[in-house]
Amino acid sequence: MGVGLEDSCVHCGFCLEACPTYVVTRSEVHSPRGRITAVKLDVDSQGFDTCMFCRRCELACPSGVEYARIITKVRRATPEKILMNSLLERPRLAWRVLKAGKSLNSGLIQRVRLSLRDPQEPLEYREESPEVILFPGCLTSLAYRRTVENALKFLKAKGLRVSVLNGCCGLAHRSEGQVERAQELVRRLTNVKGGTLVSLSSNCTAHMRESGVQVLDFSEYVLGLLGQERVELSLTVHDPCHANMIGLGKATREVLRKLGVNLVEMEEPSFECGAGGGYFLFHPQIAENVMELKAEKIRRSGTNLVVSTNPSCSLVLSFKGFQVVHLADLLAQTVTKSLE
Ligand code: SF4
Ligand code: SF4
Repeated sequence: MGVGLEDSCVHCGFCLEACPTYVVTRSEVHSPRGRITAVKLDVDSQGFDTCMFCRRCELACPSGVEYARIITKVRRATPEKILMNSLLERPRLAWRVLKAGKSLNSGLIQRVRLSLRDPQEPLEYREESPEVILFPGCLTSLAYRRTVENALKFLKAKGLRVSVLNGCCGLAHRSEGQVERAQELVRRLTNVKGGTLVSLSSNCTAHMRESGVQVLDFSEYVLGLLGQERVELSLTVHDPCHANMIGLGKATREVLRKLGVNLVEMEEPSFECGAGGGYFLFHPQIAENVMELKAEKIRRSGTNLVVSTNPSCSLVLSFKGFQVVHLADLLAQTVTKSLE
């Protein structure tokens, strides 16, 4: 038998307290080490499905274990998850399906409808010879059209030509073990021609960059555009898990610093929010327990206003009663001139 990636795990357990599903269950089965052990032993485990794919264990691991590559080898997406991911590939079709969803006898569609509350028609916007190709990400297109409009408003106010590119980067597929489909989707973004590809969903930015796509996160792109803009607010910042792996929180904080906001750091800003992409739809109890831990950390910061640059995180934080904004929403407040 050859040596697998899983063999680099020395069972030290340093990853355990970083893992949200271990923290809320205290069960080895639902821990990174337990999942890796099951892979080593070549046995099936309930823990494969309960992983949130936040990859916090990778950051905590002193042995450099490539957990994401190990878990995606053994994860098998259920038909419901395959259906959801294929809809995310086409945000406009997803919107139509969700609109018609009231009359569809599908538990999944009803759960998604309820979570998004008011799914919106993805914004279509194109200009000749764009300098910026704005990639909202599938869920942002559907759940946060206002944020896409706000990003566009700010970029246009800076005199830039922009086109919006709706679609999916494949992160949702990869997290469920649909690795080939994920690669096909992200490869399309590698071939985007024209302007600078700018992503509005920071976990998508991280996934794309890791897959070799030349992309800037919105936070990174706007840093070079800021001038005298000011926002007088007190707020805290949540660091989405994949974005945190490539340090995007630094750019987010730099934008906020330039805007002059009063930033109150929460405890462990990169602690998982409980969304896990679409995880909260399939494992509501574990997700709720993780969300509550996150909510406590936010409450202790003393502010109710949270900056989140990733849509699934924004959704679940709003479920807990917080007011959630994207950087684009703050920047749009600084623009007096309307888009029209
Ligand atoms: S994954 Fe890394 S941190 Fe976790 S038990 Fe294995 S070697 Fe230790
Ligand atoms: S990816 Fe997240 S949920 Fe999965 S084992 Fe690692 S830390 Fe735990």
